This record gives sequence, C-alpha cells and structure tokens, in this order.
Amino acid sequence: MEILTLPVGPLQANCYLLFDEGKNTAVVDPGGDAERILEEIHRRQLKVQAVLLTHVHFDHMLAADEVQAATGAPLWIPKGDEAALTDPSRSLLQWLQEKSKTPLRPDRLVEDRDILTVGKLRLEVIATPGHTPGSCCYRCGDALLTGDTLFAGGVGRTDFPGGDEGMLRESLHRLSKLEGEYTVLPGHGPATTLDKERSGNPYLSLL
Ligand SMILES: [Zn+2]
Repeated sequence: MEILTLPVGPLQANCYLLFDEGKNTAVVDPGGDAERILEEIHRRQLKVQAVLLTHVHFDHMLAADEVQAATGAPLWIPKGDEAALTDPSRSLLQWLQEKSKTPLRPDRLVEDRDILTVGKLRLEVIATPGHTPGSCCYRCGDALLTGDTLFAGGVGRTDFPGGDEGMLRESLHRLSKLEGEYTVLPGHGPATTLDKERSGNPYLSLL
C-alpha cells in the first residue's frame, strides 16, 4: 500500500490517496483543490474506487463532487453525519462566501466496524463521534486516518454544531486502547504515531 498526503483547500486539510499495487485507490477527504487531486490521480494513473469522508465538514469535502465526476467513484460517508449534507450550519459551509454547493449524495453510509474493500486495501471503520456526530477513523494496515478527531499534539474541536466533548473523550479513549502501533494520519497537520500521542498528547495521556 502507498499513501500520498495532499494538503488541500481553504484550511489545508489533508487529502489522502491510498492505493494498492494495482493502483486501486481510495480518496479520503478531498477537501478542495480538485485540480491538484485529479492531476495526481492522472499522473500516477490511479484507479479511484471510492471517495471517503472522515466527517461532513466543508474543508474535508469541497472537491468530492469533482473527484467523483472525474472518476465515477462512489461516495462513502460515515453514518451520523448525513444531516450535515443538507445543513450548511452543520457542514460549516455557511462560513464560505460562495453560494452553497449542490448537496453531495452518498452511495453508502459506513458504520463502526464496517470493512471497506478497495482493491486489495481493507479499510476498517472506527466510529469516533465527538468532533461531529458521525466522525470516524479509517484503519488500513498500520495506518490510522483520524480526520479531525486526533491530531499531532491535539484533538478536534467540539464547539461546532453537533460537537460533543464527552463523546470525543470516549472516542479518544477508544483510540488510545487500540492494540499495537499505528502511523496516525490526521485531517490537518503533520503525521504522528499512536504511541507518541498516547504518551505525549495530554488529551490522551491524561484520560
Ligand atoms: Zn472538521
């Protein structure tokens, strides 16, 4: 498996391209800069089989429609965040001055413990509500894509509509208890490891 990280969009969210040796690809959180994402897809001749979101906030999904249109890939989003697709106050799309986009239409709502198959990749859904009601992480091999739940040295905000501090705490507890070591690929900022966060991130180490 290879993983490319592309910081995209107005808030430089990390869009991840995960692909197997046959170039079967999952695009996670295409948060903007569709041209840049598509250029990378075309240059590497990636076969996009699915577009996935960790949660429905605009900065993680602004380019989802264009990536879908260009690749024909289905859109998979976490169950619990579907209300945000049509509610700009929940997706935070209302922050943007541009007129609101046509709501995305998911082809599948993914749930906790679902195993998603993309070519030879196996992505396991770990529901981690708190930042949003549906926020989830995707575990693929030794990579853990944490969206806006867990960052290097920090955690997601819970003061947006639908946020819940108690649920975030439980979700972080669950992540901290995962057995083994993972490369943590967050929705913003640099990669880290789960062990580093378990020991050095006060939100995890003080749980
Ligand atoms: Zn977010």
